[in-house]
Amino acid sequence: MYDLVIKNANIIDGSGGPSFAGELAVQNGRIAALGDNLGSAKETIDAEEFSLAPGIIDLHTHFDAQLTWDPYATPSNRLGVTTVVIGNCGFTIAPCKPEHRDRTLRNLTHVEGMSLDAMKAGIDWDFVTFADYLNSLEKRGMVPNVAAFCGHSSVRTWVLGDEASDRAATKSEVAEMKKLVREAMDAGACGFASSTLEQHNGENGVPMPSRLADDHEMMELTGVLGEVGKGTFMLTKGMTSTIPWLESIAAHSGRPVMIAAMFVDPGNPERVFDENAQISEARGRGRELWSQVGCFPLGMEFTLGHPYPLEALIAWHPAIEAEGSEEFKKILRDTSFRQGLKDEMQTTGVPNRFSSKNWDHMTIMEVHKAEHRKFIGKKVGHLARDSGEDPWDWFLDFGLADELKTLFDVRLFNVDEERVADLLRYEYGAIALSDAGAHLSFLCDAGFGLHLMGHWARDKEKISLEKAVEALTSRPADIYRIKDRGRLVEGAWADLMLFDPNTVARGNKERVNDLPTGASRIDTPAIGLKGVWVNGVRTVNDNWNLQDCGKPGQLLRDFVDLS
Ligand SMILES: [Zn+2]
Repeated sequence: MYDLVIKNANIIDGSGGPSFAGELAVQNGRIAALGDNLGSAKETIDAEEFSLAPGIIDLHTHFDAQLTWDPYATPSNRLGVTTVVIGNCGFTIAPCKPEHRDRTLRNLTHVEGMSLDAMKAGIDWDFVTFADYLNSLEKRGMVPNVAAFCGHSSVRTWVLGDEASDRAATKSEVAEMKKLVREAMDAGACGFASSTLEQHNGENGVPMPSRLADDHEMMELTGVLGEVGKGTFMLTKGMTSTIPWLESIAAHSGRPVMIAAMFVDPGNPERVFDENAQISEARGRGRELWSQVGCFPLGMEFTLGHPYPLEALIAWHPAIEAEGSEEFKKILRDTSFRQGLKDEMQTTGVPNRFSSKNWDHMTIMEVHKAEHRKFIGKKVGHLARDSGEDPWDWFLDFGLADELKTLFDVRLFNVDEERVADLLRYEYGAIALSDAGAHLSFLCDAGFGLHLMGHWARDKEKISLEKAVEALTSRPADIYRIKDRGRLVEGAWADLMLFDPNTVARGNKERVNDLPTGASRIDTPAIGLKGVWVNGVRTVNDNWNLQDCGKPGQLLRDFVDLS
């Protein structure tokens, strides 16, 4: 007798092949059988012809801190995600010497928009090394499965301390870092993650440590993956990291390279397609490069009090460095500061930047002063045009007049849906980039999988539902060598998602206050999701409630290539 049989299901097995009607049986956390009339079980569920698919594997999350107090990885599991990969961009919390904890959290607060108070209240620092951290997570337990990257910025901070964000490393420091990466790989990291992205700044605008690495350091640290013969190098790349350079890393290490963040930039829409063409060429030479793309417009809510989307602009730097809000306001009023911003917007070929095209996608969501209410719902670009002002002047004057409290929503990338559809069809693309666990007060893209199935497969018909499921399940599993997951086949772990293909979607944004100390975050409810199972245990029921399910997730440590 099986533990569970789900009957009367439309099975989408994750392979990309056509769906079929049938039953699925679970025994001891694994899929025991697929077929018809599988017989009796301790529990039988009628799927009512809804679609049964593998759970979503989210390759790009930042749950490193949150998982130490929230085993659910909220809200991802409730959005169909059964495996999360953490440590992306190299922003991790281990290894971390006790004297570097405060600095690490302050940097995370800035670069990933996490609440410092929530992290301070939430994290129980019962770990120092990367191996300790994995053991600590495993001991605490979690609802989804977790795979963890070894993070470059943490490794660098361990070795260089306060100088990690200031300078290149010496030969002996690089050797010490290599040792840490090797230890992390031995402990069960899924690879090594880093960032060279110009927006990635820590407290007071200092670059995140990995941005100070020179070529030698990058080659040596990624080379460890080649030495141990496993793991993926994940990079969120800035303007200096070209595809040929990434190909040279892949050639040197012999390991896969996952390249984020490949968005359609309204300031230079062709760039991502040119880079994907270079990736295809590298593929022809046998290098395993992957292009990590998003299936949603990257939007953020922000105020001038914490203007994350603007901080990538070089000309914005004086504002980041301002001490206190009076000095900050003075800088925003300064005409030469504003001229610098206007000039920088005219510069072409600067990737991943806030660009002049963004003004028409920047909406006023909430205002502080009553007399400004008439502007709610309007676009900054339109308002500036109507008043005959430069958008920077209109925007900054308005924000100052509203005491820096106006809530803006800006769509930065992936605004042109037709081009996004082209990205989604790219053969070496990996659809991810949810950034779940980060930027909690600005955005919530943890429901990217539901959006892919609902918006792109059903509503826009740009991809078949079977291919959408494949992109969310077996493909990410194969790229990161996650064994026995991502497919509904006999013997695989029973990570499952049951949904109604006619309604599946991510719901509208809402603000909730459930972080430690009551800090707020944006949430998007799941629509049409009927159930989620992790290792055979139901974690979300058909009313979209979390079950009292225990902690069925596993800490994944085995990422060896399948030969
Ligand atoms: Zn990231």
